[in-house]
Amino acid sequence: MSDCIFCKIIKGEIPSTNVYKDEFVTAFRDINPAAPTHILIVPNKHIDSVNMLIPDDEPLIGKMFSIAKQLANKEGIAESGYRLIVNTGEEAGQTVFHIHLHLLGGRTMRALG
Ligand code: 5GP
Ligand code: ZN
Repeated sequence: MSDCIFCKIIKGEIPSTNVYKDEFVTAFRDINPAAPTHILIVPNKHIDSVNMLIPDDEPLIGKMFSIAKQLANKEGIAESGYRLIVNTGEEAGQTVFHIHLHLLGGRTMRALG
């Protein structure tokens, strides 16, 4: 996906503050943080959204949650609490169409709605 901002970040073509990287997943700090900890956990493979997931992606999605858990520990928010969000589609507020998991913590969150 040549015009995808997250593909460019993963390839190192756009600067980012990376907090994790392996063969399958990259995690970096959100450029416009909504909480003291706001990390985006992103598969290296381009997938538009949850709507485009296939059964073969299941291990990758599991890995993203494991990395979220590790990063929450590292950020010191595992005990206080954190929120994992995957916006899907425009009405949900998805603005970057490369699937990603938001890890948010370090402050009290309001109820969903
Ligand atoms: P979405 O709204 O699609 O769920 O989340 C996209 C997130 O990506 C937003 O929180 C936005 O601040 C973040 N974002 C957009 N462009 C960039 C960028 O170039 N670098 C980083 N680090 N985050 C970005
Ligand atoms: Zn992409």
